Amino acid sequence: MRERSADEEAYHVGTAAMSTDAALDEAFTPSPPTEPLTVAEPARETPVHAITQVLVVGGGPAGFAAALAARRAGAEVLLVERYNHLGGLSTGGLVIWIDRMTDWNGRLVIAGIGQELLERLPQDAVAGAPRNLWGSNSEDRVAYWRERQGAFRDTVTWSPMIDPEWLKYLSVEMLIDAGVKLLLHSWVAEPLLDRQRVRGVTFESKQGRRAILAEVIVDATGDLDLCARAGLEFEADAKAGGGGIAHCLNTGWLWAGVDFARWLKFKRDDPQAHRQLMTDAGEALGFAERPVVGWSNDVALFLGPRLSGYSGVDVTDLTRVEVESRRRMVAHLDHFRRRAPGFENAWLMLSAPQIGVRHTRRLIGLDKLTADDWRQGIRHHDEIGVSPSPSQKFANVSVPYRALVARDAENLLAPGRHMSCDPQTQAFMREIPQCWLTGQAAGVAAALAASREIPVGELDAGALQAELRRQGAYLQADADSTAAVAGGPPRGPKVSITADTPAF
Ligand SMILES: Cc1cc2nc3c(=O)[nH]c(=O)nc-3n(C[C@H](O)[C@H](O)[C@H](O)COP(=O)(O)OP(=O)(O)OC[C@H]3O[C@@H](n4cnc5c(N)ncnc54)[C@H](O)[C@@H]3O)c2cc1C
Repeated sequence: MRERSADEEAYHVGTAAMSTDAALDEAFTPSPPTEPLTVAEPARETPVHAITQVLVVGGGPAGFAAALAARRAGAEVLLVERYNHLGGLSTGGLVIWIDRMTDWNGRLVIAGIGQELLERLPQDAVAGAPRNLWGSNSEDRVAYWRERQGAFRDTVTWSPMIDPEWLKYLSVEMLIDAGVKLLLHSWVAEPLLDRQRVRGVTFESKQGRRAILAEVIVDATGDLDLCARAGLEFEADAKAGGGGIAHCLNTGWLWAGVDFARWLKFKRDDPQAHRQLMTDAGEALGFAERPVVGWSNDVALFLGPRLSGYSGVDVTDLTRVEVESRRRMVAHLDHFRRRAPGFENAWLMLSAPQIGVRHTRRLIGLDKLTADDWRQGIRHHDEIGVSPSPSQKFANVSVPYRALVARDAENLLAPGRHMSCDPQTQAFMREIPQCWLTGQAAGVAAALAASREIPVGELDAGALQAELRRQGAYLQADADSTAAVAGGPPRGPKVSITADTPAF
């Protein structure tokens, strides 16, 4: 096992993060040239594949919501995704545990497209606490739902498990119904720059390299690929002052053939035996990952093992983490089948088609959502929605539009896990519901800016909020005003937004 550096150790997250075996890496890692070497590529003419008003790059939670919202706001929209499905990590990454959409009072604060998506899934494809229990602090209810990922800090929450295949299917159908154009199997390569504007992108597919031209572009790659390739500055640490810490990576797994009710009963009835089993697993496997129940009682989800010290934008690291995660998946299967009640007949249903990357780069936006903001309960005047807060000590978190607007480009928005925020804020703003929220807002903004032919940073926040409300989003202005601003005064007026747009 490779020793963790002091920084990695400092960012030791969760139960037992660790790094992979350096000696084993050598078996599959290609050797670099002995000295730095480059090749010159010939200049070429690239065919234009499509022209659109709004281009959304990436079909994860943020990109899906952005495309749908932009279309519903009247724009011509094209979404480009490198894989064969939509949903990003929420489907392909097997992150099927949709985190909290309700606040501490049980109010559904992440509404809009995220809510609609969950409501349209077939009933047997979603498992979570019923509406009448959201916000409940009853000990029995909390105990029941805690075992099923449906309670947090002694409160029952709306944080369901979903079947990823249904989410993939439904996401595509909703976009097609709305009239969004779609390109799958298309990997966006480079932005086409014209001073502060991005005129479009090139992408690679089985048809070779092609271009798409657009008026407004939404970078929903999760890793801020477009902004980074455009040469925009970005932030990278997952920990304040973390010295290059990238957070941990892993490929999750799903097992079927599990009797989860038996496993939960075992844990409840014999906590000592359960502890021993996990300790033994830790000793035998080097690390023990905890199963959680999926959307169905016979499906177990492992969202680890969290491997630290790697970068989600380094192809060698990505390869290592894939190899190591699957090795651990097989080792865990063997141990659980032999030792864990309810897992005797478990089988490998799927390892995630998309590697689990929590954090790589963060946008430098016109604004930045920070822990100071939500600790003080600041309500932003360009609020595009609210997130549940990390603990009962804080009011709901007001999310500013300007944290999605690239500071150094006229027509680039970046919702999702790479929005402009500090590391503490990224820890919850990266969750799937929050990515739906920021994606929907970016989509509406992109459509309005395109139709008015103005830079995205000059959009009137009132118009943006009105369209978001029309699309079912929840904004604090909708709520009881005394409850909504708990914790502190609003920060200065930010209604009319003007971009400061230095050259790339
Ligand atoms: C292991 C793990 C556990 C997590 N646990 C939870 C949890 O329990 N609950 C929760 O709510 N959230 C959880 N999260 C966080 C959440 O899954 C992600 O932060 C969220 O999915 C991010 O959404 P996104 O749309 O910003 O990016 P992504 O989901 O990463 O989607 C980005 C999409 O863009 C596509 N793309 C990227 N680059 C290109 C390109 N160049 N060209 C074309 N397409 C491209 C990708 O293929 C992908 O489909 C977890 C994350 C991980 C990794």
